[in-house]
Amino acid sequence: MTALVDAPATSVLDDAQAQLSAAIEVLGYDQSMHRMLAVPRREVTVSVPLRKDDGSVEVYVGHRVQHNFSRGPAKGGLRYSPDVTLDEVRALAMWMTWKCALLDVPYGGAKGGIRIDPREHSAAELERVTRRYTSEISPLIGPERDIPAPDIGTDERTMAWMMDTYSVQQGHTVLGVTTGKPVGLGGSLGRATATSRGVVHVALAALTDRGIAPAGATAAVQGFGKVGRYAARFLAEAGLRVLAVSDQYGAVASPTGLDVVALEKHVDETGSVVGFAGGDVLPGDALLELDVDLLVPAAVEGVLHAGNAARVKAKVIVEGANGPTTPEADEILRSAGVLVAPDILANAGGVVVSYFEWVQANQAFWWSADEVEARLATRMDQAWQHVNAHARRLGVPLRSAATALAVERVAQAHQQRGLYP
Ligand code: NAD
Repeated sequence: MTALVDAPATSVLDDAQAQLSAAIEVLGYDQSMHRMLAVPRREVTVSVPLRKDDGSVEVYVGHRVQHNFSRGPAKGGLRYSPDVTLDEVRALAMWMTWKCALLDVPYGGAKGGIRIDPREHSAAELERVTRRYTSEISPLIGPERDIPAPDIGTDERTMAWMMDTYSVQQGHTVLGVTTGKPVGLGGSLGRATATSRGVVHVALAALTDRGIAPAGATAAVQGFGKVGRYAARFLAEAGLRVLAVSDQYGAVASPTGLDVVALEKHVDETGSVVGFAGGDVLPGDALLELDVDLLVPAAVEGVLHAGNAARVKAKVIVEGANGPTTPEADEILRSAGVLVAPDILANAGGVVVSYFEWVQANQAFWWSADEVEARLATRMDQAWQHVNAHARRLGVPLRSAATALAVERVAQAHQQRGLYP
């Protein structure tokens, strides 16, 4: 395990820190509280040696950062990407703290990552990497300590391997150690689509708030993975015309709206949106600048920045991804009157149903899909109304209101618990 290092911040961590500083100022907390919330409570960096299928050994770097656990166990996804850095994981862990507090689920925030490209490995290699990483971080995780979930490059299979590895070490099955597991193995009905359902709940509310009727409105979705795919599907089901979607390989567009069901079939067969016969090729990041009512960035962080924000024509942006908008872009979009529903609100459906999964696993009692979806809808609608009303009251953007509400809840927990010793 490494000590907490004072490495130079990358931009994504700078973004998260800037948002925290602004909230501390709005709330009037002193520097001591700021210092408590600005640094992770615990972090670990591990080497993850992998015996590859050809017998050679490669060593990868993995991280797990627990930003805060004042309100309960730490909670957050696990990312497999060649771009993972410790600072990125720190930023994502901090955002998880705010997201859990904002939705009032009894968790703190965490995040994990391995710097690895999952597309370059067989399932057997990914299983070995996952099991070794889980074993290395096992002193830190557990249903009452820190509960991982899927993120970019990981899925329900990854969570099953993690749960199994941890359970073998404990000597008994511990279903509550991860969420986002297969339904047959302690997963919750509705978890796989929960983030996207939450994104669409918020999108419909935000469009309506702006006086735009969702039926017939136009949308573009960046990313066609676990979040973007179902977001596109549910938007189309709600009557929006999805004019464009993209993945890391390219983008497709249709001026009359894509057939999302046919597109999903194409992606299942080919692995990418590229080559879809029902749409035209769209160059580069042009999707972000399309003239649409709704833009859903659901891929990676930092895609809306000072260099392109002024060219965004969408009236409403709903952040499926974590951290897709830099603070500079936020300011440009605010001046242009674009409504931005922030990540810690918009994509919180995933952690809400992860919480439901953990509750069900701990009670060994399973809910129906309808029950899960009804509870999710209630939580998302309440959170939207709470943040929207707070933003209006203070005359600030939704992100500032959401971050302030969340930081206040975490700060109150700190104050109520006191400082030991
Ligand atoms: P994923 O790995 O399932 O999918 C990511 C998608 O983004 C893929 O389609 C990939 O091709 C695409 N992509 C990557 N780089 C791109 C680029 N430059 N342009 C366009 N597309 C690009 O990951 P996911 O779970 O869908 O996560 C997406 C985002 O949502 C991340 O920011 C993640 O942290 C966030 N998020 C995920 C969940 C969840 O439950 N999975 C919950 C909350 C937030």
